Amino acid sequence: MYQKVSQSGIPTRHQEEHDMNRRRLLQMTGGSAAAGAIGMLGEKSAALAQTYSKATRGLPALKITNVKTIQTCPQGGNYVVVKVETSEPGLYGVGSATLTTRGAAVVTAANEFLAPFAIGRNPAHIEDMWQTAYVSSYWRNGPILNGALCGLDEALWDIKAKRANMPLYELLGGKSRFAITTYCHADGKTVEETSNNVSKFVEAGWKHVRIQLGGYGSPILGKTPDFKDAGFGLPEDGYQENEPYVKGTLKLFEYIRKVHGGDIELIHDMHERIEPIEAVNLVKSLQQYRLFFAEDPLSPEQMGYFKMMRKQCSTPIAMGELFSHRMEWTSLISDRLIDFIRVGFNHVGGITPGLKIARLAEAFGVRTAWHGPGNIDPINHAAQGHVDLTIPNFGIQEAVDLGWGQVIQEDFPGCPQMKKGYMYLNEAPGIGVDIDEKLAAKYPFQPFPAGTGFRFPIRKADGTQIRP
Ligand code: MG
Repeated sequence: MYQKVSQSGIPTRHQEEHDMNRRRLLQMTGGSAAAGAIGMLGEKSAALAQTYSKATRGLPALKITNVKTIQTCPQGGNYVVVKVETSEPGLYGVGSATLTTRGAAVVTAANEFLAPFAIGRNPAHIEDMWQTAYVSSYWRNGPILNGALCGLDEALWDIKAKRANMPLYELLGGKSRFAITTYCHADGKTVEETSNNVSKFVEAGWKHVRIQLGGYGSPILGKTPDFKDAGFGLPEDGYQENEPYVKGTLKLFEYIRKVHGGDIELIHDMHERIEPIEAVNLVKSLQQYRLFFAEDPLSPEQMGYFKMMRKQCSTPIAMGELFSHRMEWTSLISDRLIDFIRVGFNHVGGITPGLKIARLAEAFGVRTAWHGPGNIDPINHAAQGHVDLTIPNFGIQEAVDLGWGQVIQEDFPGCPQMKKGYMYLNEAPGIGVDIDEKLAAKYPFQPFPAGTGFRFPIRKADGTQIRP
């Protein structure tokens, strides 16, 4: 049972004490600045430390008392949320542990291993908790363990910001922009249909649109799935031909530029579908259409081709939604081989590593474009959004087209809102998004929810497997 809590998640009685202590602390800080006595900084600093100690003395020492996972699939995406409860009644944090394609594995990692690791520890020690949890399995890393770790990490930041009684972006340095610029996704079976969908987004206020023709790799343009006639694989296996995809994509860009002119910013997701040298050629051919970026042109296994791609053309490149290990992005950023880093916090371990990636990228002129489709839960979207609001090298945010559906908004109170191409976070303390556990239970987890599309491989005409 929880006590009645304030909006910040802090119990009302504690909230009053907490507010009073904070006011005292702020008065002391303001007084110091007004005095402007530079020579007295040492004394003032000691006095401030004492005041801080007094101001926080009223707050009970925190311990993590429980860590649990909540699973829900409200609209096509398997979402996993980690809830971290503390010794302060009613004070808890929530974080995203969503791994769309293997959610149940993350649930096991969080429940069986991360919960026993975290219970009893101080939730204020986020960096220490991240580092020690990261190596606690000895064999570390990977999207499953990082997903569970992200759930814990985001929940700890949520707790810290709730305790500070401020939205997380304030704790991270404050706003650098009024809202978060996003891109949406226009697709169609024909160039005309994609163009009509682009118009819908432009009319709704979007300035950045990702365009595809018949899904990733344009499988609808393929004509000869010989492997199916030969009985190879399963009847449900996907099929794609590289040449029609490349030709169709160039035709699509030519058409969209002709119809919509040069003002709209265009993005295209190559989704690692074609051979590395074909990707180099396509990115080079797309340069004439002035892309905002080409997304994930190469698979993580073929990053050696980025140097060749860079020498061939200057089409901006966004890379990394499949990254989970830090060594995968460091040289791409420091060698300036990409323009946007697009890892998702839920795949690399949370806000803590996300901030470090953003700072590394800042030093090399690389901007952010965190992964953010609709099959990732609103808590992770909001967590990334708080970083988006603060960092100087924010580029763009992938977001849910035209906003979240009603069911998800009810399932996740405080869900980010979309308006005219911008994502807005609320001003509640913490990450600002919660989960309604009773409602979440009405939408049980699905083994392979619609839209994930990764149960069946994609093959060439002869049955050879293609990267998904
Ligand atoms: Mg992508």
